[in-house]
Amino acid sequence: MNIMIASSEIVPFAKTGGLADVCGALPQQLNQLGHQVSVLMPGYRSVVYGDFDVQKTGIELEIPVGGQLVSGQLLVTTFPESDIKVYLVANDDYFDRESLYGEKGVDYQDNAERFVFFNRAVLEAVRLLDLRPDLIHCNDWQTGLIPVLLKAEYDSNPLYEKIATLITIHNLAYQGNFPSSAMSLTGLDWKYFNHLQMEFFDQLNLLKTGIVFADSINTVSPTYAQEIQGEEQGCGLQGVLQDRADVLSGILNGIDTTQWNPAIDELIPANFSADDWPQGKTVCKKHLQDLFGLEQNSNVPLIGIVGRLATQKGWSLILQVMQKWLEATDIQWVVLGTGAPEFHTALTSLYQNHPHKLGLQLGFSNELAHQIEAGADMFVMPSEYEPCGLNQMYSMAYGTVPVVRRTGGLADTVVDASLETIGDGTANGFSFDSFTAAELEAALSRAVEMYRHDKNNWNKLVNAGIQRDWSWAVSAKAYESLYLETIERKLGQSIAR
Ligand code: ADP
Repeated sequence: MNIMIASSEIVPFAKTGGLADVCGALPQQLNQLGHQVSVLMPGYRSVVYGDFDVQKTGIELEIPVGGQLVSGQLLVTTFPESDIKVYLVANDDYFDRESLYGEKGVDYQDNAERFVFFNRAVLEAVRLLDLRPDLIHCNDWQTGLIPVLLKAEYDSNPLYEKIATLITIHNLAYQGNFPSSAMSLTGLDWKYFNHLQMEFFDQLNLLKTGIVFADSINTVSPTYAQEIQGEEQGCGLQGVLQDRADVLSGILNGIDTTQWNPAIDELIPANFSADDWPQGKTVCKKHLQDLFGLEQNSNVPLIGIVGRLATQKGWSLILQVMQKWLEATDIQWVVLGTGAPEFHTALTSLYQNHPHKLGLQLGFSNELAHQIEAGADMFVMPSEYEPCGLNQMYSMAYGTVPVVRRTGGLADTVVDASLETIGDGTANGFSFDSFTAAELEAALSRAVEMYRHDKNNWNKLVNAGIQRDWSWAVSAKAYESLYLETIERKLGQSIAR
């Protein structure tokens, strides 16, 4: 297949969230599966004027945006140590800026204009670079116009008429809503501005537009694909998602095993693998206890947490259980995170009262994140919602048992320990349903009980997690199938693989 991936963020060139990780890993995996891949992203300052080898293609762009022709250029670079091309849609007025979407918590005023330009440039690049894709893979609201532009403006063009589209929703909470006046910027007929297509309560909604017009839609886990069709997690788009349920699916993200593999990880004090994890993890746990001045006792359960200090991540529940357990038990906690001030304050106060049972670092540290994943016995993630989640997968890859709320990608990756799942060897963690501190405490208690009194079964859980393949290779195969299915549907006939 010939696949074109359009994204507003791609690792290692520009990143604000998980979207960038997916769009960085997937092209290389698809390439290894034998597919032709081209990638397009905006020419941000971080890539055009950064440390990458960026070349001119010699192709100039003239893109209609809101009745004017806006000039730009197509530049090109490659992924490091790869020959997969990444085309950059450059226009310094739009993209040579400090950040991707805004500064100091305020979105750039012209985001609609910037991304209309980018979306239209992606479609022009097909022709100008003679890319001939079978499918364009769009990602989140920033590429939500591509499917409708293709249908409305390019449909009768032989170069374009067979191109299928897929849009991936990485987090439904971000939808690209703009005042209705932004509709004029798109250049599309106002007939599309209705509540069944591009309008969302008087606003232009670019994610909704993508959902309505793409040939297929997916999210980053199967359970999240179901959950977003309901009112609780649908963010107002549940109706349109239900309407498209027949082409909506979920594919779990993978983890980057060049960075997150305990056998070769240079950031942890001892390496280990599925065959010899007990020795390695003992060293990593001691090191973590030492780092934070916790009692160096290998029998005391150590609970790790890494992540944004955001309501979504279930901090209200964690804090309640933590406070109770810090007072009543010898169980140790190590927390790394940054985010909402109220959680900073609450954690600091707990730390001041229990410095020998709680290790706390309020900030961002990739090194410490690796050391926590390697050194903790269990990892807590009671998210309110979780499109996919990476930390629970890192934990399992590092032999750390996750305790999670059964939602989104957490539900799809963590198999709760029960007699049955332990029996059939699938159990790899603990999970619970209701978003309450009582349920979190009950799940954590089950974990601590097993850790302390049933090492045989505990080791089975660790083994199940550490032995499973969490890599992108698995996810890329699922995308390969989805692309093929989408292309076949679009063509209305089978094509040879
Ligand atoms: P989300 O994308 O919702 O924040 P994920 O679990 O999908 O949650 O991914 C979070 C990623 O960010 C992980 O790679 C995690 O290790 C990293 N991370 C989050 N907070 C920190 C921090 N304070 N220090 C280091 N890494 C962090």
